[in-house]
Amino acid sequence: MTVQACPRRRDGQSCAPINEVVVGAGPGAAPESYAACSCGRRFPLPHAARRRLGEAVAGCRAVPPATAEPAAARALDSLLERVAWPAGRASRLSRQGVVPVGTPVLHRPTEPVTVISSGLVRFALHMVSVMRSAGGVGLAANQAGAPVRVLAHDLGRVVPQMLINPRMIRSHGTWTYGEGCLSLRVEGAAADVVRPKVVTVVATLLDGRVLAVRADEVLARVLQHELDHLEGIAYVQRLADAERAAVYALIERAGGDLRSLPPRPYGS
Ligand SMILES: [Zn+2]
Ligand SMILES: [Zn+2]
Repeated sequence: MTVQACPRRRDGQSCAPINEVVVGAGPGAAPESYAACSCGRRFPLPHAARRRLGEAVAGCRAVPPATAEPAAARALDSLLERVAWPAGRASRLSRQGVVPVGTPVLHRPTEPVTVISSGLVRFALHMVSVMRSAGGVGLAANQAGAPVRVLAHDLGRVVPQMLINPRMIRSHGTWTYGEGCLSLRVEGAAADVVRPKVVTVVATLLDGRVLAVRADEVLARVLQHELDHLEGIAYVQRLADAERAAVYALIERAGGDLRSLPPRPYGS
């Protein structure tokens, strides 16, 4: 047997089951559990991890379907239609179709979703399309104009791309990794950010099932960057000292409003 170096791991190591996933049963969908490499290759999930993540799934309330909350579904759909940032809208500081830093919706915490409406599903597809055409690996709903707790990411081979009401319940370790942002297109503003290496996140999927993932490395990083957006925080707010000063100087020179980016040190 030969072991291939994993194409998605920067250190050139072999495929490794670094992400652990449990998805609860749902309407018309069976439960799942697996471990996965960052590239998506799957492995059996050890029993202890299945039990631990299964408990997290059981403790997380699934977002109900539109049929259970028709009035809330109508209200959500009308909100999303009103606030969605047009896919063709260009701005100086962001990628096309993405809300730029300095826009209020990007600097306030988003609201939990109370129902999976048809408009929410449409909005999710829109988010994925904006993320792809902008060349990003993640997008938060407020980057597409909507103050709702939904994120998209591009590691769909590991866990489904859209997470509704994602919530971090555990984290540990530290890992330094380079981040940039579709809402902050400033030459030189990409920077190394120190964050927890491993995070456990629970969320509802578009099909109504509850997911718990213990994410490591790249997936953990993408989730934390987007979870920060959903709290109104941009990655540059996590920088410190000289790096922060250098990046903020570039943002200011590019015409960015630094008042919307107060420092938020790691852990706050
Ligand atoms: Zn791999
Ligand atoms: Zn971002």
